[in-house]
Amino acid sequence: MTRQKIVVFTDLDATLLDHDNYSFAKAQSGLDLCRRLQIPVIAVTSKTLDETRIWVERIGLDQRFVFENGGGIHLEDDEIINLGVDYSVLRQIMVKLSSSFPVRGFGDMAAEEIVERTGLSFEEAKIAALRRFSEPFISPETDFEELEKAVAIYGLQVVRGGRFFHLQAAKQSKGNAVAYLLEHFNADCARVISLALGDSPNDFNMFAKVDYPWLVRHPGKRQMIPDIENLKVTSKFGPEGWSEAIVTTLNKL
Ligand SMILES: [Mg+2]
Repeated sequence: MTRQKIVVFTDLDATLLDHDNYSFAKAQSGLDLCRRLQIPVIAVTSKTLDETRIWVERIGLDQRFVFENGGGIHLEDDEIINLGVDYSVLRQIMVKLSSSFPVRGFGDMAAEEIVERTGLSFEEAKIAALRRFSEPFISPETDFEELEKAVAIYGLQVVRGGRFFHLQAAKQSKGNAVAYLLEHFNADCARVISLALGDSPNDFNMFAKVDYPWLVRHPGKRQMIPDIENLKVTSKFGPEGWSEAIVTTLNKL
């Protein structure tokens, strides 16, 4: 007998969580539907391990999740799959880059500055700064192409998130982590149907790995729309768009 399983991969910031106040209230109808149908909702985020753990508990998401832009995967038994470059190495390279580029990373910022730039609470900002596989940074008026060339020498890349750039391993991506988990699911299931939801360029590579990719609309900001076959764009913003995508897709399946 063919067993079929539906899996949802989702970005958090500005996708499942409101960009300004981090609320997921407007995503509740979609979350309830997934819970009722026992569909795992797997966070795929640039947040840290400890930050993501808190949101997974708060929202009631699956225990498996991808953190720091695919640098690590947390599995059910607390096992961590390491797909990135160690944070201490990233910091050393960040310091080298700062002599040629106006880069400023989380490692250069006090918790107060992270609070100011993110709207997180002081406690949350301290947890956001506990990095393992990626360094969020700002870099106003940088020649982005030159910066990309400079980091490539170290086997790294720069990924654009909603608020920050992220310095991380060249092969590290949400898409590769999603592919890893899909293989996992495929091993014990005949047919896996997958959805992915996100709002930013760092989400685009996971769109190509799934059956139903959704770009969640972003309010008041120019949003890049990737050229991906079968990509759908929500008509509503943020968490409300998240529910729209989930309900629309699941009703069809
Ligand atoms: Mg986002």
